[in-house]
Amino acid sequence: MTTFTDLGLSDETLKAIEDVGYTTPTPIQEQAIPYVLQMRDVLGCAQTGTGKTAGFTLPMIEILASGRARARMPRSLILEPTRELATQVAENFRLYGKYHTGLSMALLIGGENMDPQIKNLERGVDVLIATPGRLIDLFERGRIMLNDIKIFVIDEADRMLDMGFIPDIEKIAGLLPPMRQTLFFSATMPPEIRKLADRFLSNPKTVTVSPPASTGVNIQHSLIDLPSTNDWQKREALRHLLREQNVANAFIFCNRKRDVALLQKSLTKHGFNAGALHGDLTQSTRTDTLNAFRNGEISLLVCSDVAARGLDIADVSHVFNYDVPFNAEDYVHRIGRTGRAGKTGTAVTLVTPEESKLVSAIEALIKKEINRGIIPNLPQPDESISRRAKTLSSRQRSGQNRGRNRREPKPEQEIQENRVFESPRHVPHPGEVEAVRAPRASIHESPMTETTAAFGENLPAFLRRPRSVAKRSS
Ligand code: AMP
Repeated sequence: MTTFTDLGLSDETLKAIEDVGYTTPTPIQEQAIPYVLQMRDVLGCAQTGTGKTAGFTLPMIEILASGRARARMPRSLILEPTRELATQVAENFRLYGKYHTGLSMALLIGGENMDPQIKNLERGVDVLIATPGRLIDLFERGRIMLNDIKIFVIDEADRMLDMGFIPDIEKIAGLLPPMRQTLFFSATMPPEIRKLADRFLSNPKTVTVSPPASTGVNIQHSLIDLPSTNDWQKREALRHLLREQNVANAFIFCNRKRDVALLQKSLTKHGFNAGALHGDLTQSTRTDTLNAFRNGEISLLVCSDVAARGLDIADVSHVFNYDVPFNAEDYVHRIGRTGRAGKTGTAVTLVTPEESKLVSAIEALIKKEINRGIIPNLPQPDESISRRAKTLSSRQRSGQNRGRNRREPKPEQEIQENRVFESPRHVPHPGEVEAVRAPRASIHESPMTETTAAFGENLPAFLRRPRSVAKRSS
């Protein structure tokens, strides 16, 4: 069995690894570290949770340990798609580089004051970790020069593609010296990513630790078919699962930022301890919420894909997909927030009849059928709410009530109205993928159908117990 000592790391790094408590390298570390130390370009196909961050940060520390940075001329650059991921990588550097006291690092992320970032750059940094927008901004202000970069890391390349960052990355790569080492990591390798890798990498060594788009072996995942597209019933189904399952803490994913906010308010109103995380919140709110989730002050984190991508939080017991993700690959990423570092995890996806076709794409991607079940006796939506919604809808059509509708709606009223009225079509700009709208559910209330549970022998315990039918109003 390969040990960290076999990988050619220095005593200082080995000591730091020991302090963190790692005993053996993960497969990506075992494969990538020797190549990076040989100064080879690397194409890494690895999901988050595999230890890939240490796979590139550990050897980078070794390479950068000799030599010093000049003011405003960083010696290495790591690009991350989100601020949270950039912060996480910086945290890894702090841990692994603790005995390399001469190495300096700067974090350039949007949403935070530029002045301390600029001051850091002026002192000279060995490792620069950045999100593309802030980096380009500071470059255009003349605060940073990129012609001394010796190691360039593009992390989470497929996410960069989803977020519309590829033009920015191409621009940044064009500012770097051609003689450099490039490390390129992606969880999946769709053709666009493969083409990009071919352009940036020179004779790379490829390291793959799990087949692209496979789901973690420690995660038990299943689908719950809902009888209708009704939003209230969907929230009720989620509340039922949260109460019935042994949920210590959970990520709850929504496809739209607006629904993140609505669902968090609704859960809070029903007594759940929930926070919200999406790309439109200020950076300080995002950081505070994430910290609260990490340290257990919040047990449920309702979030969008962009905010939660790659987050490494140990011991997350559950992931719920309140919406089936539009992109099949996001399914793999979402459920990968649980079952990390050898732990087991549970992922449950709610599926309305309209979302079924998205499930087919996921099953095609992961090349297996996901167990399906139902929640027996799920309560019907409250008839009176439906009637009220229809009345509101017809008033809106006839132009009545304009003034009244302009009031700030109460959370649950907003939920009801959102379901009824289409807001003007929003055309997303690159980087705003999480705001892309799927076709809205109609308020059509389909009659309850009792589908046969199809879990076979794997039927989870919570599905075996019939639920008492209680009428609740949201
Ligand atoms: P990553 O895929 O880089 O986000 O890492 C996922 C998690 O694995 C992080 O919590 C790391 O601290 C942890 N980790 C990384 N390398 C090892 C290792 N060799 N042994 C145990 N845990 C590790």
